Amino acid sequence: MKLSLLYKIIKKIKKIKDILLPCQVEDFLLRKYFKGTFLSQVEFHLVDYCNLNCACCDHFSPLAPKKIVPVCDVISDFKKLKKIFDNVGKILILGGEPLLHPNLLEIFEPLKEIYPKSELVIITNGILLDSMNEDFWLALKKYNVTLSMTKYPIKVDYGKFLNKCLNMGIKSYFFNENKLKMYKMNLDYKAKNDKYAAYKLCWHKNCHFLRDSKLYLCTPAPNIGFLNKHFNLDFKLTKRDYIDLDKVKSATKINRIFSKPIDFCKYCSDKPLEWGEYSHSKKELSEWVKVESLK
Ligand code: SF4
Ligand code: SF4
Repeated sequence: MKLSLLYKIIKKIKKIKDILLPCQVEDFLLRKYFKGTFLSQVEFHLVDYCNLNCACCDHFSPLAPKKIVPVCDVISDFKKLKKIFDNVGKILILGGEPLLHPNLLEIFEPLKEIYPKSELVIITNGILLDSMNEDFWLALKKYNVTLSMTKYPIKVDYGKFLNKCLNMGIKSYFFNENKLKMYKMNLDYKAKNDKYAAYKLCWHKNCHFLRDSKLYLCTPAPNIGFLNKHFNLDFKLTKRDYIDLDKVKSATKINRIFSKPIDFCKYCSDKPLEWGEYSHSKKELSEWVKVESLK
């Protein structure tokens, strides 16, 4: 069975059910498909900063420095991951805005060599797509990279790029079909939240994140340093909040750790999220943190 067909089946099952836990269903089917040790999804930042400045960005990119992640660092991390997980379902290339990376095209081939069966997905806000040269589009085609576009309320003709992909035989989709909404993370600085309730409600728990030889359960935790630095705060990341790939070598152990909340979950909201209209960030603390919790 083709991997894309498997994902279609998973999507159908996810629609039908809500009695089963989504991650467990997906992991079960994908483990069957891949056999051996398997991680459903992993993502990484090619750059931490962004050319769009969205309020409440849950990667904290409006607060991140203009740092480019060296391609060799990413590859070194994936080689370590490969020693533990034979297969990864999806590898998400993002940021910040990944198209800002000057050597973006150098990442595809080594990633495919390490994980030939994985679906590579690049997630973009689309701003730079018009300026990407032919080599970029040909590389997407050659390495079978999926282009995922988040439709922001900005002047980008997303449909044009979807058609271009269609014509070139590049897999492409919109991350959001409807008008984009943003949510407030409402982090509790006193870490008083019920971490089990927060984890249960959280959709990030399957967005495992790779950086500097460490594998994280989710995206917000490893990027909290940008918020800490900008506002001179001290949200703590403990050794129990990530897996050090130089020390932990067991896929079973990692999957077990990731199947329950980490310490950092105590900061995250244990109530349903507050959604609001899209707006640009004013870099105000209240976009991310429950301000009362600072008193
Ligand atoms: S485009 Fe994405 S990464 Fe960039 S600021 Fe907006 S939400 Fe954050
Ligand atoms: S720390 Fe826990 S609750 Fe917060 S985003 Fe990560 S997985 Fe979700």
